Formats: sequence, structure tokens, C-alpha cells
Amino acid sequence: MGKQALKLKRIQDAELKDKKVLVRVDYNVPLEGTTVTDQTRIQETLPTLKHLLESNCKIILLSHLGRPKGVVDDKFSLKPVVPVLKQMLKTQVHFGVDCMGPDAEKLVAKAKPGEVILLENLRFHPEEEKNDTSFAKALAGLGDYFIQDAFGALHRSHASTVGIPKYLPSAIGYLVQKELEFLDRTLGNPQRPFLALLGGAKISDKIGVIHRLLERVNTLLIGGGMTYTFLAAQGVSVGKSLVEKDKIQDAEKIIEEAYNRNVAFLVPADHVMVKEIRPGAPTLVSQAMAVQEDWIGVDIGPHTVELFSEKIAESKTIFWNGPMGIFEMEPFSHGSVEIAKILAQATEAGAVTVVGGGDTLAVLAKAGAADKMTHCSTGGGASLELLEGKVLPGLSALSQEN
Ligand code: AMP
Repeated sequence: MGKQALKLKRIQDAELKDKKVLVRVDYNVPLEGTTVTDQTRIQETLPTLKHLLESNCKIILLSHLGRPKGVVDDKFSLKPVVPVLKQMLKTQVHFGVDCMGPDAEKLVAKAKPGEVILLENLRFHPEEEKNDTSFAKALAGLGDYFIQDAFGALHRSHASTVGIPKYLPSAIGYLVQKELEFLDRTLGNPQRPFLALLGGAKISDKIGVIHRLLERVNTLLIGGGMTYTFLAAQGVSVGKSLVEKDKIQDAEKIIEEAYNRNVAFLVPADHVMVKEIRPGAPTLVSQAMAVQEDWIGVDIGPHTVELFSEKIAESKTIFWNGPMGIFEMEPFSHGSVEIAKILAQATEAGAVTVVGGGDTLAVLAKAGAADKMTHCSTGGGASLELLEGKVLPGLSALSQEN
């Protein structure tokens, strides 16, 4: 946070009139067959695309979808995005079956200014993830200018994030600007009290971000699977709950740092427990911080929801990443859904709420609260790396100091 002091050119400051503009977007959308089931990631790029259409540009869109591992696989085709874009932009949207090569070149030559070309999944070529120079050059050769608007891909050093800007004048689009404003500027200089709520399966991938957050927050609330490593670190019994034994020392250090920094550090005071993880398994509320022998903690309990709710209501800036329980199974989604509703109320009461991570956004959707946050980050990994203070490769590649 705050460390991302890179000089980045913005789309609104770039001379783009009548140009062929390559735009890296993150259309890694969920599909059911050939239907896009959540259009948020497409919707979020509209400000950038509309700006380019108003500048009479030919727009060439590049994206990845899923993990096809360098081979053509129809399951990961971007074609289903075409009708969605057509409907949203009310303009001609061409589809290129390959993101590079003669077909892509012909398509770009044929399209008229004010039209859009969506090229097929970049990751059908292994060169994308290897950041291959010739591949990046071939992509760059399709346009006159490069706009980076794929926030969710900025923590990756791929051809379409760090390669292309070597060969084209480049700028960041409106979505990347919005993400940086909330994740970097707002959370870097928050209105206080500042509260962070972290959940998800494991502590291991969040240790760095927790340390950074402890430097900033007034309150840190922990939920989800990582709870049990913290409880184990405090000598509380956790039954058969998920514990990362090799991270207990890290958890101890975090607890100590929270104490030294005077950060209110809360772990769940009760849990919803099961004897086996399956939908419909009989549940029991622990009534205490300890998880009984043979039981597994799968969600925060009602007393915890109340305690967390009080802390959230006292806060002016709130960041949430990671579900409070195994939310994918209906009976264990209750705690996460309640927290989503409490955050929606906090937003309405004037707090700034910033939510990140694919699972957490899925919880918001479940709670009908997706549009009730100040900002929903489209990039899980990228948002955590940014909060951790890491310089995102996709941004340093665009820095004007390069
Ligand atoms: P992450 O990718 O680290 O944010 O973790 C998200 C995953 O954490 C989801 O798939 C949840 O099912 C899982 N999760 C949340 N709470 C628990 C828990 N108590 N035990 C095991 N997994 C959990």
C-alpha cells in the first residue's frame, strides 16, 4: 500500500483518436456450457471500451480464460463473451479464432473504426505464460497503442502483461485506475477506525498481507479455516478442524504483533461444527471458542456474528477477503452471508467497504449484496499482492520510468 508510487499514464491522458488499440482485459468469466453466468468482469471494462469507441478507435481485446495450459480447448473459448459484448456496446463485435497470426491480422485490417475484435484465449498459446518475446511482439504488432485494464492479471509476468508494453506506447484503463484508487489510496490512507476481516481456507498464503495490514488497521477479525491455526497457536482445542501445523509459529508471531501494535485482534468465539464435511451433515454450535473433540469447525457461530457485527458497526473503513466458512455447502454459508449483509448495512451507514477475492464476491452474490459495497475488487491474487506492498509486474512494466 502506498508503495506503488509508479508513474502510470492513464487512458484519459493518451492520444488515441482513430487508433488501433489493443486492450488487455480480464474476461476470465464463469461459463455454463456457452453461457456467461456472471457478466461482472465484462461490465467492469465498459468505461474503458466506451472511451475508446468515442475516440473512434478500432478495439482489439485480449484476454485469458481459465487454465487451458497452452493448448486449444473449446471449454475455455472466449466466444461466449461475444454476444454479451454486442449487447452491452451496441456495435459490431468480431471474433478471432486465434489471438495472433494471419487470421487475426486480416480481421483487424477488415474491421472498421468503432468496431470491436475479441481475440481467442491468449493461454491457448504456451508462449503467453512464458512471456515469450516473439509472441509479445506479434501481439503488439496488431495495434498502435496498448491499454492495460486486466487488474486481475497484473501480478503475473506474462506476454500480455509485461511483454506487450515493451513494444507499444501504453496506459492504464479505467478499471485498473478504480482498483488502485480503492486498494492503494483508500486503504493506504483510510478513515478510522479501519477494520480488516480475513477468512478463507489457509493462513499460509495470507501471512504477508496480515503483517502489512497489522501496520494499518485498528481491528483485525479472523474467520474461516485459518481460525484454527490461530486457536492452536493459543493452545485452544480445535478438534479435527483444519490446522496448518507448520504455520503455528507464524500465527503466534501475528498474535504478538497485533498485541504490540495495539490492534484489536478477534478470532471466532463460537463455531458451527460437523463430524464430517458433507451437505446435510448434522451440525452443532460449539458455544465456546474451543472445538469439541472429533468435531470440525466449518463456519463461524451466531455469537461470533454478533461480536463481529459490533466491531464492523464501529468502523469507517472495512476490508474483507475470504469466506467465514465452507460457504459452498449451503448449511455452512450462513456466517459468511450474515457478514455480507452486515457489510451492506455498514456501507449504507456511510462506511467505505472494499471486498476482494472470487469466493468472497460469490458470497456477496449469494447474500444479494454484490452492489451494496463501495468497491468490489475484480482481482483476488492481485489485490492481496498490492495490499502486501508488492510491486505488481504488470504495473511496473507500464511505469513511465522504465
Ligand atoms: P481462500 O482461497 O484461501 O480464500 O479459501 C477459500 C476457501 O476456504 C473456500 O473454498 C472455503 O470453503 C474454505 N473454507 C472456509 N472456511 C473453512 C473451514 N472452516 N474449513 C475448511 N475450509 C474452509
